[in-house]
This record gives sequence, C-alpha cells and structure tokens, in this order.
Amino acid sequence: MKIEKQIERKEKGAAAEHKYKNFPMVPKVIFGRGSFMQLGEILLPKRRNSDAPFIFLVDDFFHGKDLEQQIPWLFNDQIIFISAEEEPKTAQVDALVAKIKSDFDELPSGVVGIGGGTLLDLAKAVAIMLTNKGSSEQYQGWDLVTNRAVYHVGVPTISGTGAEVSRTAVLSGPDKKLGINSDYTTYDQVVLDPNLLKTVPKEQWFYTGMDCFIHCIESLTGTYLNAFSQSYGEKALDLCKEVFLENLSEEESEEKLMMASWHGGMSIAYSQVGVAHAMSYGLSYLLGVKHGIGNCLVFEHLGEFYPKGVALFRKMKAKHGITLPKGICANLSEEDFNIMISVSLSMDALWENALGTNWREKINAEKLKEIYSKI
Ligand code: NAD
Ligand code: ZN
Repeated sequence: MKIEKQIERKEKGAAAEHKYKNFPMVPKVIFGRGSFMQLGEILLPKRRNSDAPFIFLVDDFFHGKDLEQQIPWLFNDQIIFISAEEEPKTAQVDALVAKIKSDFDELPSGVVGIGGGTLLDLAKAVAIMLTNKGSSEQYQGWDLVTNRAVYHVGVPTISGTGAEVSRTAVLSGPDKKLGINSDYTTYDQVVLDPNLLKTVPKEQWFYTGMDCFIHCIESLTGTYLNAFSQSYGEKALDLCKEVFLENLSEEESEEKLMMASWHGGMSIAYSQVGVAHAMSYGLSYLLGVKHGIGNCLVFEHLGEFYPKGVALFRKMKAKHGITLPKGICANLSEEDFNIMISVSLSMDALWENALGTNWREKINAEKLKEIYSKI
C-alpha cells in the first residue's frame, strides 16, 4: 500500500515536472523619468576590465539626437546604430556577432539594446550568439540554447511589444520566423525611462500600443488562461483602456503604456497569443508587414473570434483618427494566399489557445483566405 502511494506520488510529481514551465523573469528593473541617466552606474560593476567593452545596439532614429550624447560609453565601448525599418533577421544577428568578435579580443562585458521590439530582440539574440556556436537560425525554437548569454540590458524607447520582459527574441530566418525561446534570452536588466517615448510618431505609437492591447485580448480569452496570466493581462488591459480611451496627460499616458507593455508581456509568458498573431505572422512572412500594424490589419476583421475586443479596438482607432491601409492583399496570387495560410496554420499553440484542442475543426484554409482577402 505504502509503495503504491509512493509510486502514485512520484508519477504525479513527474507529470507536474513536465507540465509547468519554470519561468525566468527580469531580475533587475529601474523605472522613472530620467532613469536612463543612471545607466552608466548600472553598467560599471558589470565591466570585467577595460578591454571587455559594452556594445550598444541603438535604433538609428537616435543617431545625432540627444540620447546619443547620453549613452554612457567608456574605454573601447562600441555604439552601433541599426535601422528598425526591417524586423531582425538571423543573418543580421550572425553578421553583428562576427563583427564584434573580429573587433575585440575579449568577449564583451555586455550588450545593451536601445529601441523598440526590433532592437530589443536583436540585442537579446546577439548576447546569446556571442557565447553559443554556429548560426542563430539553429536556435530558433524552444530551449535550444546551451550556454548562458553575455550580460544584456534592454532599454525600450517605444511601448507595447513586451519584448523587454519576454523570454523570446523573434527572428526571421531563411525558412521561418520564430523566436529564440530560452531561459537565457530574458534581459538581466531593464531600464524603463518614459522620457524616451516622447519622440514616437503617433501612428507607430498606436500600432505598437495595439500589440499590447491585442496580447491582452488574446491571452484573456484564450483556453490557456490561468490566474497568473489573468492577473497581468487584466492590469495591462485596464492600462490600455486608460491610455487609448481616456484623456490622460502625455506624461501619464507614456508611463501607463510603458507598464501596460510590461504586464502584457508577463501575461503571455504563461499563456499564448491567438488568432491575430497567427494570421499576422503570415502577413509578415510573405509581405514583410511589421508586427504592430500587421496585428491591427488582421484584428480589425476578427469580430467573430473577439467581439468585445474588436469593438474596443474600433473605438480606440476612431478616437485617435487612425486609418489603416487598405488593399494589402488585393493583388495576391492563389499561391501567395496559400503561403500565408500555411505559415499561419503552422502555429498550433496559438490556434489551440484561441479555439481549444479541437481547433482544426473550427478553422480551415478557406476561412483564413476569406479573412486575408478583406485586408
Ligand atoms: P520597432 O522596434 O520595429 O520600431 C518601430 C518604429 O519606431 C521604427 O521606425 C523605430 O525607428 C521607431 N522608434 C522606436 N522608438 C522611437 C522613439 N522613441 N522615437 C521615434 N521613433 C522611434 O517597433 P516595435 O513595434 O516595438 O517592435 C516590433 C518588433 O517586436 C517585431 O520585430 C516583433 O517581432 C517584435 N516583438 C517581439 C516580442 C517579444 O516578446 N520578443 C513581442 C512582440 C513583438
Ligand atoms: Zn505581439
């Protein structure tokens, strides 16, 4: 009897071991206006020696702007400006790593990413690839990274993606767009300075902000929902409603969206996104449509999946006078549609979260084509 009980307990334990992810969080975060000015003192104890530089990967919007002067470089540190015009690619990560390795004899003390989701993901991936062999495309997937990354710091300058808290770095590779999902991906330090958001253009503010709003809707209505995700998702959703539907001061709006992004990212950590993201990945893969706007283009037509969310989205869009581009899929061939549909339908976890384990009975290529055709 005793032994049976023990075996039973062991089996339950083993099942639990595989069922729940032991999730890393950002261990250090500084929040506040002007906190970017403290970056120098934050990095100082992490400098191994004067030959081991810090590499600053910075959105090229800031080239020649005030922020450039405030980057706390020392010794042989390197500032590399990078365009966020295109989302990060595995080849780009590999080229940056090769350059850093050839420029310096020592491994860097750390990597600092300054920018939106594009730069934040790029910096995470570079930090990982400095200590892991081969090409970054080998690590797209789940838990494929074996060595700890170099110390890495994220400084968001636009809010919404949640890339500052997530354990993934989304990259486009030669045959897929997929994140490097690993315990080593998450930032060691994040600097949240709402002053850095001041220059974001209105439309981009809306699109990236809506990424957060859509994360909340997809997480909160998903079948994977649990109390952990719900607690973060509800907070993020409330903050989004305040930011996009009320009349906050500019300062309040910046601060609240910054925290909404954080909570939205935490919410999907322990659940998943859904239909909008699955379909937006298809658009992005075929047409290079960027994440924020792609989600908006799709979400607009998802009333049957997310009726309340879509109604709120329309209200927000109207309040801020945002008009989405039209005719994106107007001239696509049958083959083009098939590519988008197959990319989208390959995201099993997203569909399962959105529609349940029997999702294949509820969605099919025809239905997706009908939605894509409206975009
Ligand atoms: P982005 O980084 O692509 O930047 C969008 C535009 O805003 C760019 O033109 C950029 O130069 C500009 N910009 C950024 N900060 C600015 C500022 N302060 N002032 C003026 N202009 C500024 O935008 P994003 O929406 O934050 O990121 C999209 C990327 O995030 C995609 O690559 C997507 O795959 C990724 N993403 C990652 C995660 C994750 O968990 N890792 C989650 C969602 C999205
Ligand atoms: Zn997203």
